[in-house]
Amino acid sequence: MTLARWEEYYEGLLGKPKIDTHEHFLPSEEINDEKDPLFAILRDSYLPWILFGARDLKRTEFDKEELLHGISRVPASGFYRYLLRAFRFMYGIEENNITGNNWNVFSEAVTGARAEGLDLIEHWLFDTLGVQKAILDRYWVVGDYQVDRRRFAPVFRIDPYFFGFSSASRDHDGNTPYGPGEKKGEEIVTFADYLELVERRIKKGLAEGVVAFKCAVAYDRSLDFSLPSRQAAERAFYQEEGQEDSEGVIDFQNFLFHHFMRKAAEADLPVQIHTGPGKAFQSAASRLGSIFEMYSSVKISLFHGSFPWVGEPGAMALFYPNLNIDLVWLPVMSPSFGEIALTQWLETTGGARIMMGGDSWNVEGAVGSILENVEVIARVLARLERKGYLSAHTAWQIGQMILWDNPRDFFGERLQV
Ligand SMILES: [Zn+2]
Repeated sequence: MTLARWEEYYEGLLGKPKIDTHEHFLPSEEINDEKDPLFAILRDSYLPWILFGARDLKRTEFDKEELLHGISRVPASGFYRYLLRAFRFMYGIEENNITGNNWNVFSEAVTGARAEGLDLIEHWLFDTLGVQKAILDRYWVVGDYQVDRRRFAPVFRIDPYFFGFSSASRDHDGNTPYGPGEKKGEEIVTFADYLELVERRIKKGLAEGVVAFKCAVAYDRSLDFSLPSRQAAERAFYQEEGQEDSEGVIDFQNFLFHHFMRKAAEADLPVQIHTGPGKAFQSAASRLGSIFEMYSSVKISLFHGSFPWVGEPGAMALFYPNLNIDLVWLPVMSPSFGEIALTQWLETTGGARIMMGGDSWNVEGAVGSILENVEVIARVLARLERKGYLSAHTAWQIGQMILWDNPRDFFGERLQV
């Protein structure tokens, strides 16, 4: 059987060394200790987002029957297809849908793989798919960067610090910057105390090897970050608990965002920012235009290609050499938008500054996602070669840039690979 040209790129790129710029791997017990690991894998994936609504996830309880009913209504969803793809790749399951009738086929495969005691992430992600390092965003543990350094590098999640104006506020993941012995109103009394807490955390993170700041605050608010005065920023901090006005909160958060950007400049630390889907969809890349101008020395990576505004980061890359673009999650949301986006980005960046990642909570999700990324890359390279825009030699070179050279340039020496 002869392979189509894109399939040649796909097969060739699958095992090539890669840097996976973004994962959220939960401790493996989260799945292994479940009665039905298949249910846990599907629950901790993007599938429930399309079935039950992303923003209500924390409050949504559902069972297997509801999940199966939901699945039957979204067979074309990218949030479903990437999982089926992983089950096919990892376990050879050719079924094109998960139903009540074939549930056990999937369930036995994932349970069996875990029963063998094999480290599945090690086997599939690192050995099979050639990932050399994965950037791990453990957003559920604020201020903790303990990861297996052979395989992972931690990021410093800045989101919780946007919510320190009150002790009761939480970010979209339920996090607060305050920990034991750091209570607002007791140990942390003044805004200066608060900035010192932030400073201590940054110092600890840098000492413990974080490779980037990561900002996903677009799930909570818009990406318009005007620069307020310190006085304006302090106001919400000193307002009565629960009585903060929304303008004061925005000033507080904007100040913190700029504070972290200044710290990133000082430490020469790159910044990863979630763009695209978010709170009220006020999260297009172009809202960050002034940030790229103010912090021109800081390398900033725009996650998810600013979907659906995928043209924006490509256009902005023409003007801002510090702008990087991460394909991460886009090929799972919409593979065809991934191809449109990557084609345009290659034409504007020339191939530099583009990366990819898996953005998943478990190995099946990560494998499915990486495969979607690689297929998008392969299809775009094959098409540009066929058009005569790129030679085959250059197209292969660009494949390597996206998977390896570009993320190495972005993270620099901190990323030990
Ligand atoms: Zn993520």
